[in-house]
This record gives sequence, structure tokens and C-alpha cells, in this order.
Amino acid sequence: MQAPLIRRIVIVGGGTAGWMTAAALSAKLGSGVAITLIESEAIGTVGVGEATVPHIRHFNAALGIDEADFLSRTNATFKLGIEFRDWGRIGDSYIHPFGAYGAPIDGVDFHQHWVRLHKAGRAAPFEAFSLPIRAARADRFAHPDPDPHSLLSTYSYAYQFDAGLYGRYLRAFAEARGVMRQEGRVVDVALRDDGFVESVRLDDGRTVGGDLFVDCSGFRGLLIEQALHAGYDEWTRWLPCDRAIAMPCATTGPISPYTRATALSAGWAWRIPLQHRVGNGHVYSSGFIDDDAALTALLAGLDGPPIAEPNRLRFTTGRRRRQWIGNTVAIGLSAGFLEPLESTSIHLIQLAIGRLLDLLPQGDWDPRDAAEFDRLMAREYDRVRDFLILHYHATERDDSPFWNHCRTMDVPDSLATQLALFRERGVVAPYADGMFLEPSWLAVYLGQRVVPHRVDPRVLTTGEGEAAALLAAMASRYGAAADGLPGHAAALGLAA
Ligand code: FAD
Repeated sequence: MQAPLIRRIVIVGGGTAGWMTAAALSAKLGSGVAITLIESEAIGTVGVGEATVPHIRHFNAALGIDEADFLSRTNATFKLGIEFRDWGRIGDSYIHPFGAYGAPIDGVDFHQHWVRLHKAGRAAPFEAFSLPIRAARADRFAHPDPDPHSLLSTYSYAYQFDAGLYGRYLRAFAEARGVMRQEGRVVDVALRDDGFVESVRLDDGRTVGGDLFVDCSGFRGLLIEQALHAGYDEWTRWLPCDRAIAMPCATTGPISPYTRATALSAGWAWRIPLQHRVGNGHVYSSGFIDDDAALTALLAGLDGPPIAEPNRLRFTTGRRRRQWIGNTVAIGLSAGFLEPLESTSIHLIQLAIGRLLDLLPQGDWDPRDAAEFDRLMAREYDRVRDFLILHYHATERDDSPFWNHCRTMDVPDSLATQLALFRERGVVAPYADGMFLEPSWLAVYLGQRVVPHRVDPRVLTTGEGEAAALLAAMASRYGAAADGLPGHAAALGLAA
């Protein structure tokens, strides 16, 4: 029988990407494959990445992780969505929820009925028709009901956690399944004649060889870029933020079950409530604000006293042109970076791990595996990119050069088409696959004042009064259901 192609996997990097990869591969590949993870404490990790999207629950579940244990060991909270403040206009607030809006009427999408009544001045705000938003605004949470007939089945949820603790949690998981951790700094990458990576050399002279290498070395892309020169598509012209300052602070009020993103004069600030602290950061464009002013703006918005020194980060938004070259696959920040406005990076790590497992070569190295991996990952990055650009571009803000730039810039054709379809008569054309579905696009369009010009003629078969009564009844059902949920702190088992 032919010997297995991949018997030794080397993961370079022990941040969230490295340990998620190590945990998943050790759980799914069994003991026939030796997995080594190399990380350098002296270099450390990026130290941010606390808000997630609901897919993370599937990742944890696939590893058999118990939710209660995970919550307590990572100081995690529940997340029902993201509140966007001051994006369409200063003073605006909307929540992008993990869940649906309303229910279709006479077979026509709910939002089309809402647009009609909104234009007639007869509709409650769009968010009144979302259970997760109603619950989030009231700091309430309960697990969704698996019964599809229940109103409590109309949403999903994610987590907000301490990224360092999550890394440690996954490390313990992976080491218990045989992953060998090597401490040290990789100083050299040896290539074979065919361009495959043969081994990496550490600063103390040790050499670690492998059949498959996973580059989880962060922004530097130690293998995929520095050794293999994958190339990088840069997207700063559409997503001009290129720096961030992160700084946690003490909790002073209730723990909200949602992340907040507040638009500032040259970027935006995040607020991520955990059990033991609040994570904060300012993502900004160095072309429009200097570092000192960015720190001042961040400090001005903190709930409580800072509890750590500022962590300053620089990045270039974009993705590697190739994420799998020869026997090296890039996962995490080494593969690309899209700013954290929609908490998508950890999800992209999860996707990459899943696709690597799907395409893991068995008999021989086939360049089509790498090409397919690249195609799938590029598509995901591009789709997240468009959705992020929408937040910056669909604004009426004209109070700073940054917002004037974003409002008037050209956007990718793919997004321009989406916007045109919605502006005309409310057609949401979600990409056939990709993570953001119709409710997500609706949340941002309507939350940022992009209202369709025309009413969909199909809604006119329902009388206006009848539609108004149906919507009013729906809104009050969502309100009552949200009022019946426990408080978020109680759902976490904490004293309120
Ligand atoms: P890193 O954390 O940088 O880890 C790299 C690893 O490689 C480290 O262990 C390092 O020691 C090791 N390494 C590097 N060079 C060497 C070497 N020569 N030898 C040995 N080891 C080496 N994502 C989300 O999903 N949600 C968020 O809310 C979110 N917020 C973010 C906010 C900001 C400002 C930024 C910049 C990112 C954010 N992200 C977020 C992204 C998220 O932080 C990352 O996707 C995630 O942490 C994975 O990082 P990583 O493991 O790829 O890289």
C-alpha cells in the first residue's frame, strides 16, 4: 500500500489561527499525522480579535467543545449582532443582527411591505421587526429555540471572548490530542528544487521538516510571502483604514450582548463587552488623522478607566494573490486582512481550515487542489470586502475629509451593481454563497438610509391598512418575545 502523502504537518505561528488550525487538524486527522506547532513568545501574537460571527459555534461544536466550559474559560459573552452608531448620519444607530426581519406577507418579502409603509409614514422602525435587535437593545439573551415555528427560532448568536484565553483553550485541546509545541523563532525557510518547503530552521539551530506547512505567522507571512512570494492585492483605495489602537477598559455598566462600532471622524471605534472587561479599539486611516489624535479620540469614548497600555497596530487591507503554494497553505493574517468592522477574520480562518481539510491531498500533490483552495478563499475575501465597503460608502456624512472621500469614492463593480439593484426597487441580490445573506444587506442599507426609490408592485395586492395592521401586530409580538427573555448577565450565569 502506498505510504500516506502527509504524515508530518508543521504549523508556523501560535496565534488564534495557529491554534485553531492545530485543534481542528488534530481532532480530524487522528494520530497517523504528527503535528508540530512552532511559536515565538518573544514575537507574541497580534493580541486582538475578540468578536465573532455565529459560524464559530459550528467550529467549537465540531471539536466537541462544551459551551459552558468554553464561556467560563474564555470570559466570553453572547453576541446578537453589531450596533453601528453614526454611520449614515451622526446620531443614527442601527444593529446588524444575526437573524431575520419580519415574515413574508402574501408571499412577498417582508422588507418590501415595510418600504411601502415607511414611505407612507405608517411603519415602525425596521429594527422593531427583529427579535435579536429587540433583545440586544434590552440587554437580554436566550438560546434560540430549535422549533422552527417559534419566534425564538428567528435568530442566531456568536461570542465575544478574550482572544488570548481562546488561544490557550485551544492549545490545551490540541496538545491533549498530540500536537507538539516548539518554542522558538523561525529564522530560515529551506526550499526544495521544486519550490516546496523542506524545513524551517529556528534561532537555536533546530530544524523542523514537514510534508505540509501551514503559515499562521501573522501579517509577516513568513512562508507564503517572505519565502514563496505569493504577492498581495491591496484594497486601501476602498478601505482606507490602515492602523488601529486597541485598549481594554473596566466594565462600568450592564454587559451588552452585542458589539458596537461607532464611526469617528477618520475611522471607527469598537467596543466589545466581555465578562471581565470591555475591549476597545480605534481603527483609522493614517492619511486622515495622526496617531496621537487617534488615541485621544479612543480614550474619549471609553466606558471606564483603561486597564492596559495601548496596543498599536498597522495593517494593509487586502489578500494574498495565492494562499496555497506547493505544500504551504496560509491561514489567518498571513493570508490577508480585512478590517474587523464585521468581525470576519476568525471566520475566514475557520473557512480556510475547513477547505484545507476538504482538499487535503491524499495520493499526490495536485495543483488543482491549491487552485481550488485559492479560488474559494479569494471569493470569500472579495465578498466580505464588498460588504465592508458598503458601510463606508453608503453614508450622508460630510463632516470630515475622510467621510467625503468614502462617500464619493468609486466602489468595485460587484458592489455598485448590488447598490443599484437595491436603490431602484429593493432587490437584495445576495451572493449565491458567502457569509452575508439578505438580512445583513438589509440591515446596512436601511440602517444607513439607502431606501429604494420604488415600491415593489407585488405588495399592492395587500391593502395598505391591512399591511399596516399586520406589521403592527408583528412588531408587538417581537417586543413581547424580547421582554420575556432573561437578562444577558443571567444567561451567562453572572450576577446582574
Ligand atoms: P498572530 O496573532 O499575529 O499570530 C502569529 C503567530 O506567529 C504568533 O504566535 C507569532 O509568535 C508567530 N510568529 C511570527 N513570526 C514568527 C517566527 N519568525 N518564528 C516563530 N513564530 C513566529 N478578528 C475577528 O474575527 N474579530 C475581531 O474582532 C477582530 N478584531 C481585530 C482588530 C484588529 C485591530 C486587528 C488587526 C485584527 C482583528 N481581528 C479580528 C483579526 C484577528 O486578530 C486575527 O485574525 C487572529 O488573531 C489571527 O491572527 P493570526 O493567528 O493569523 O496572527
